[in-house]
Order: sequence, then structure tokens, then C-alpha cells
Amino acid sequence: MNNLIALHKLRTFDKSFSLDVSIQRPDRYRHIDSLSNLEPIIARGGGFSYTPASFGHGSKSIDMTKFNRIGVYDHANSTILLESGVKLIDLINWAAKHKLHLPVLPGHPYITIGGCIAADAHGKNPFVDGTFADYVEEILLFHPSYGYQNLSRINNPEIFSLTCGGYGLTGIIISTKLRLLKLPSYYVKTVSTGIASLYEAIDKLTTASGMSAYSWHDATKGSNFGKGLFFSSQWDDDKIPTEFTPYLYKLNSTIKDLPFSAWNKSSTSIVNYIYNRVNCGKTTSIEYIKSCFPLINNSFYYYFYGKLGVREYQLLIQDQFIIKFIDYFYDLQKNNNFPGVMISIKKFKGNQHSLSPSGTGYMISFGAYVNKDTLCVFSKLDEMMLAFKGQPYIVKDSRLPYEIAIKSIKNYDSFRNNLIKYDPLRLLRSELSDRLKI
Ligand SMILES: Cc1cc2nc3c(=O)[nH]c(=O)nc-3n(C[C@H](O)[C@H](O)[C@H](O)COP(=O)(O)OP(=O)(O)OC[C@H]3O[C@@H](n4cnc5c(N)ncnc54)[C@H](O)[C@@H]3O)c2cc1C
Repeated sequence: MNNLIALHKLRTFDKSFSLDVSIQRPDRYRHIDSLSNLEPIIARGGGFSYTPASFGHGSKSIDMTKFNRIGVYDHANSTILLESGVKLIDLINWAAKHKLHLPVLPGHPYITIGGCIAADAHGKNPFVDGTFADYVEEILLFHPSYGYQNLSRINNPEIFSLTCGGYGLTGIIISTKLRLLKLPSYYVKTVSTGIASLYEAIDKLTTASGMSAYSWHDATKGSNFGKGLFFSSQWDDDKIPTEFTPYLYKLNSTIKDLPFSAWNKSSTSIVNYIYNRVNCGKTTSIEYIKSCFPLINNSFYYYFYGKLGVREYQLLIQDQFIIKFIDYFYDLQKNNNFPGVMISIKKFKGNQHSLSPSGTGYMISFGAYVNKDTLCVFSKLDEMMLAFKGQPYIVKDSRLPYEIAIKSIKNYDSFRNNLIKYDPLRLLRSELSDRLKI
């Protein structure tokens, strides 16, 4: 498909929602110029969001993956000019070759730069590195009513702030200037330590300072719930760099979904036990670019969910509430038909004032399979989130109800009011924005 408008079925990464929508894939500026302000549109990057943020009823999806050129590196300011459809894998390969890197990398190599800005994504140690928006210096944005606008913290700062973490609702990001850092080494040393509980992870995360620090936990209902591993990585300067080898990853679209979920109470218990035993107490040193997407390297994790798909709940809990929240989490698994597979925790710091989480605390991700009680368990997590003043990471949750969103997204009101002031016709729309009444 090129710039021609075609009808396609688009599906969320969690496989819970699909829709036939019109989609257009521009590859020239004149295709962008000709977008009219008479019909709703929404930008689409790699399509790796768990929630339908890049398509919706009555909106034309503008697929930006052909805008994928890597431009000039500005040595004086350490910024690289990128079109928004550049994939993370292409950026890290280019950057590593030039002895540079971007510290904030979400977990899939085919996620695009536009998608990272729009979700204000985070990487493996957001407390140290911040979020994606912290590395964005400039944005070229297109809105059919206003044409092209240059945004930065100095030029149009309000629209810049609405756009980072704004889920494509301010317009189409055409290109951006991102700040890169010097690559300290081609190798990363990771130590994994066994931990007995979610509480122990919090203890370790409180003092973790490495380039990457996160925990992984068995989320199977029962006595192993919360047991896991703590991964801490540092640049490995001891290893002599060999020749740079690019990271290669191919999406295999020919593999058919399993017709059922291979994750269930018995399989999670066995697989997690083995994963824990195999990885516990290990020190490894691997090439930096191979360390960027650890979950994707364990490709069975997503494959096992089958055609019913994965469900994920991700939320930020502030420091003062984390222990009480964990107490409730232990009770939740004890008292329910609990569909947990894994939990991961990172220490978090976010500065954005859009729909993304902001402030400091612990970012908890909970991966679950679908059983008859999954929705009920997620509703109970909603209640816990509200009780402990948590904030949702909305891109990971395809069902977050409006009633919960308005009470938990910290900047919901100001974001919505500013967006309506900027774009009274509300031309950029998706299922996510409709569901959250933005
Ligand atoms: C396996 C996996 C691991 C992940 N790990 C992490 C993680 O560690 N940390 C994290 O923060 N997130 C993570 N994510 C979530 C991911 O970072 C976001 O969903 C991201 O937005 C996906 O980018 P995309 O290019 O696929 O965009 P899409 O899914 O296509 O779109 C996402 C949003 O971005 C907007 N958008 C895309 N391109 C543009 C553009 N050019 N202009 C304006 N708006 C645009 C869309 O309108 C939509 O609102 C993960 C997702 C997966 C599947």
C-alpha cells in the first residue's frame, strides 16, 4: 500500500480490539499537505500499542512508517534529525555505529519515534533517564487546520507539551530533533539476583542507579507469587570492542496465533520456575544493542498468549503508597481466580504534563492471560489504583474506563481543556480519545 486510501482491519497489540478503518500511508510531503480538515484523522506509527490509540471509528489512520529517514547529526548540540516513522531498531543501529545512544528505549524494536513521543514512552531505568520527552528538542507537527508548526520548549511550548504524551491528538509528528548521548561502551554487564518478594524489589530499586534496573516476578497465584529476579545493568568497559555488528530483528508475520492461551496456572508456574532458575545469580556481558529488547528475545512470552492475546495493567504508584499497594496486590491474587503471568517493577520519574504519568514512584506492569475473571481482577486493580492515588499508563490498557481515567490521569482536565482550546473541532480522534471523552 502507498499513499492510496485503503480499507484495513487494524488490531491492538493485546488482540482485544479490532476495527476496519481507512488507512493512508503518505511518503511525500505533498501527501501530507493535501490532508483535509473535513474528516477526522489520527497518526499511526508501528501499531504496537496495546490500546487502539492509532485508529478509531470514523477516523482515517495516517500510517507514518514511510517517513523513515534518518537525517543529519548536529555535533554541536548532539541532536539527530529523524522522521517520525523511524523504527527504534534503525535508530539504535545508526547511533551505536556513530558511538551514540538514546537511553530511553521501550521494549519492541519496531516501535517508531512518533509513537514514543506520543506515548512519552519510558525505558529500563526511568528514574535515572526520565522519559522520551526529555530527549525531544524540536518537533515538526502538521495539523490540517494550521499546516506545519515548529514546536520546542521555546517555540509554541504549550503545544510541544501537549504533543509529548498527547497520543497523536495535536496533529501528525512529521519529524523531530532528538538529543543523543555518547555511547560509553559497546557492552553491557547485567547481574541478576534472586528476590523473594515484591517488597524486596522495592528495597533494591530504591537504591538502584545502573543504566537499567528492574525486577521480574512470577505472578502465578499461590506460594510463588512475587518471587523473582532483580536485573541491574552497567556499561561494561572491561570488554574490548570488536567490530560493530548491527542488531537484526525480523517480524515473523507468517507464524499463526495459537488457537488457545498456553498460559494458565500450571504452565505459568512451570515456565516461571524454570525462567527463574535459569537466570538467577547470573552475570552476563553482551553487546549493548542486543540488550535493548530483553522480552522480545524471549519470544515465547507473547506467542504463548495465543489468539486471545495478552492483557496488561501498568500503573505508577507514588513512594508513600507502594508498600500498602503491594499488600493489597498479595491479597488480590489470594482471593481471586487470578490470571497472572508476570509482574515487573521499575523506579520512575516523569516530568510531562499531558496524558502520560508524571511525578516519581514505582511503575508496575502486570501481564495476565484471559480467563473468565480477568476483567473482574482488572476492575479491582482500578479500585486499588484510585485508592492509592496511582496513575495509569494508558497505552498498555485497551479497556480503561472513562470513569477511572478521569479520576486517575493526573493532568486529564488541563490536557482536555488545552486541547479543545487549541483544536475546537477536535479533528484528531481515535478509539482511545473517544473512550476517554477527550
Ligand atoms: C512488546 C512491547 C513492549 C513495550 N515496552 C514499553 C516500555 O518498556 N515502555 C513504554 O513506555 N512503552 C512500551 N510499550 C508501548 C509502546 O512504547 C507504545 O505503545 C508506543 O506508542 C508504540 O509506538 P508505535 O510506533 O507502535 O505507535 P502506534 O501504536 O502506531 O501509535 C501509538 C500512539 O502514537 C501516536 N503516533 C504514532 N505516530 C505518530 C506520529 N507520527 N505523529 C503523531 N502521533 C503519532 C498514535 O496516534 C497513537 O496515539 C511496549 C509495547 C510493546 C508491544
